[in-house]
Amino acid sequence: MAPRPIASQPEPSAAVARFFKRQPKLFIGGDWVEPKSNERISVVDPATGREIAQVADANAADVDRAVAAARAAFDKGPWAEMLPVDREALLWKLSDLIEKNLDELAEIESLNNGKTKFIAKIVDITEVRNYFRYMAGWATKIEGTTFQTSIHGPPGAKFHTYTAREPVGVVAQIIPWNFPLAMAAWKLGPALATGCTVVLKPAEQTPMTALRLADLIAEAGFPPGVVNILTGLGETTGAALVAHPGVDKVAFTGSTSVGKLINKSATDTLKRVSLELGGKSPVIVMPDADMSQVIGGAANAIFFNAGQVCCAGTRLFAHRKVFDQVVEGVSTAAQSIKLGPGLDPQTQMGPLVSREQQERVLGYIESGRREGAKVMTGGDAPASPGFYVKPTVLTSVRPDMKVVREEIFGPVLVAQRFEDLDDIAALANDTPFGLGASVWSKDISTVHRLVPKIRAGTVWVNCHNFVDPAMPFGGFKQSGFGREHGRAVIDLYTELKSVCIAV
Ligand code: NDP
Repeated sequence: MAPRPIASQPEPSAAVARFFKRQPKLFIGGDWVEPKSNERISVVDPATGREIAQVADANAADVDRAVAAARAAFDKGPWAEMLPVDREALLWKLSDLIEKNLDELAEIESLNNGKTKFIAKIVDITEVRNYFRYMAGWATKIEGTTFQTSIHGPPGAKFHTYTAREPVGVVAQIIPWNFPLAMAAWKLGPALATGCTVVLKPAEQTPMTALRLADLIAEAGFPPGVVNILTGLGETTGAALVAHPGVDKVAFTGSTSVGKLINKSATDTLKRVSLELGGKSPVIVMPDADMSQVIGGAANAIFFNAGQVCCAGTRLFAHRKVFDQVVEGVSTAAQSIKLGPGLDPQTQMGPLVSREQQERVLGYIESGRREGAKVMTGGDAPASPGFYVKPTVLTSVRPDMKVVREEIFGPVLVAQRFEDLDDIAALANDTPFGLGASVWSKDISTVHRLVPKIRAGTVWVNCHNFVDPAMPFGGFKQSGFGREHGRAVIDLYTELKSVCIAV
């Protein structure tokens, strides 16, 4: 079959074209302010490789200004005195503005990240709206406890003791490029619900929706300095934020290697740190699984968002009895995925985020080939100036191969056969990561015996990659620490204070 040509990217809407031309400054203290440095970062449409915008490159002096604004807003601004119900109302207002601008935000996300506008709209931006709504509710539900103590004070002494949760302070939030606005929402939602203030640094490749969000944060009426947004590079802007003595907590999502650097740097000032890092999540298919669910489910687990998902189902383990059927089914599904630019309504999978990421992923496929893996489908890039990689399935892989051990972060599945049901947990756990896993089986007993053995923060059963604001999300092992979502994330953004009153 002749390879399907990649379509060209349709023109953006007038509103988005205007926004891209704006050359946004830095959002500090509720205003758009000139950066101290003249350096700018070029932002590219991954479907064409062409520049679509330029953004500021914040330097250490800009970081100082942003942290000072966040510090002032936390220590003495109206935010510090604001009633929880008013924080809740602001978060709701922001979510309403996101809903109002959903189509535009989805278009910006698509042009900047490469994902389809359709998915950006129904998954990313819708989730952002829902996330702020969910977190709005937490603003009024932060509570401590009272408890009885047995303190031996002077004769007759009595004590009233309780705990309170208070906002942790100024939070530096550093986010990746795979779900740009959703990652911003996962970070900002709990910080704002709990009364923290924030300096957010989006990824250098995908700053555009975070900048548009700054407009909406101002429009919603958040007091100046509560949210500050700095575009810049990780090694400079990001590193300066992590080291800054005015920052109380760092919340990071990204690669395990940068997570380790951040954790080390934050130790100097003993900042609170939460890390949501990489993964190499197993998809375990038992012989009794419902094949009509498995094939689409396993394909989606790896190919959704072109595989640029921290919990993507990258390692397929299928039982010997069903291995060929699953691999053939997933390979056929891979071949049917239509690659193209995100604004083309026919497109099912967009390009990877950058040339660098495309080269990294192709390099992994090449290393797999060199080490003896068999390419069942895909394995290269289609002819296009965009950063595409064809959905790829590798078999004949061994546990020691680079493609099996390392996070590829692209549409590449490595498939392994297993024989013995008793071995599967050990095979699945044979990785430094522990973010997600899925088990596919109709047997409730098999499922309940296997789930507790899997060392991962989320285990899905007969599904994969589903997240919800109420469901804690984060990693075991080198996939990080701390949990996003639910009550767990409220704990991460608050300090626990004990109060002991002699009455
Ligand atoms: P990084 O981990 O480098 O980037 C994530 C964020 O951290 C970005 O905002 C980045 O800035 C920033 N950053 C980078 N270095 C530092 C530093 N020294 N101090 C503070 N902040 C820093 O991911 P990459 O973009 O380089 O992607 C590389 C690999 O990481 C991918 O192939 C994938 O395997 C993994 N990854 C995992 C993600 C996940 O969700 N778990 C998400 C993205 C990537 P800048 O934008 O300038 O790089």
